[in-house]
Amino acid sequence: MANLKIWMGHSGAEKGAVGLVVEDDITRQARIWSVEYARSCGHSVGTDNDDMSLSQRIAASQNGDGLIEWHVNSGGGTGIEVWYSTGSAKGKQLAQAVVNAGATASGMQNRGVKASNTNRFGSLGILDRTKPAAVLVELFFLDSASDVAVWNAHGKEMVVAMTKAFLESLGVQSTPTGQAPTPSKPSPSSPAPSQPAKSEYEVKAWNKRQVVDIDVLNVRTTATSQSKLVRKLVKGQTFNATRIITNGELVGKYRSWFEADGWGWVSGAYVTEIKASTPKLKGSDLPNSGRYTFTANTNIRSNASTGSSVVGLYSKGQSVIYDSKIIAGGYVWLSYIGASGNRRYVAVV
Ligand SMILES: [Zn+2]
Repeated sequence: MANLKIWMGHSGAEKGAVGLVVEDDITRQARIWSVEYARSCGHSVGTDNDDMSLSQRIAASQNGDGLIEWHVNSGGGTGIEVWYSTGSAKGKQLAQAVVNAGATASGMQNRGVKASNTNRFGSLGILDRTKPAAVLVELFFLDSASDVAVWNAHGKEMVVAMTKAFLESLGVQSTPTGQAPTPSKPSPSSPAPSQPAKSEYEVKAWNKRQVVDIDVLNVRTTATSQSKLVRKLVKGQTFNATRIITNGELVGKYRSWFEADGWGWVSGAYVTEIKASTPKLKGSDLPNSGRYTFTANTNIRSNASTGSSVVGLYSKGQSVIYDSKIIAGGYVWLSYIGASGNRRYVAVV
């Protein structure tokens, strides 16, 4: 069990920045998720109560083994970056692991790691004046609508993945105690295993692409509708069935369950295999979330249909961060929450 310190960057009278969202609101939520995850791994966590000055946080940090402080960036950029104390090899290693995990889990642009002496103040007290191996996370830019959309869609996964990466890199327990490892988001080439199926399930490697046939499809920890919900897929979304269980719970006339992109399991009753002979739609190879750069001027629509209303236009060369991918009406549609707060769709053309 490690003694960790997890702080929100601005608390009490030290208000953070304000943009499309308020820094303190975001960092408070990040701190709650991060502390909750670290405690589930069995660690002792010192945290703040929304009312600790920087000097109080520094004083309370000295006996820790590891430290994370959550912030949100501002000033007209995009993406995530993580800071470490200049000259600390351990801090740099932690920062690299954390920034990579955050970017991978969310699709947020990865701005990499930064040494504290390159900060505009020339140092960062919470990193440079404390003993534990420490990172300061700038989660995203609060004046970037696309960053805020990514945060709204993937904030919790992002914070949990970063906290887990921090613990792993620190060399301490990084999965909830008494539980199997939580699924981490797989890279396309090497899907991470999801929670193991019950031993009586027959599990085989599969690796075939599937498309979702029903409006909302639940992804669960194993091949039964009684198991824990991991996430939801929507109609038209595609995924790689990384593994198959051939003797899961009977749904309709199907006992097969597929592991969706390494995340968890969906019933075979609600998906259709995408046959190799099916002509490939442009964009069908794009990941289910990420950044897409337009190769042609493209209408922004209110729905995944060429009959829906046009609410704007992306020009060739512009890019968008999307959180889901849908096939409908002969097009691959990328979807995201627009600056207005409404869900938007763009076809890959
Ligand atoms: Zn800040």
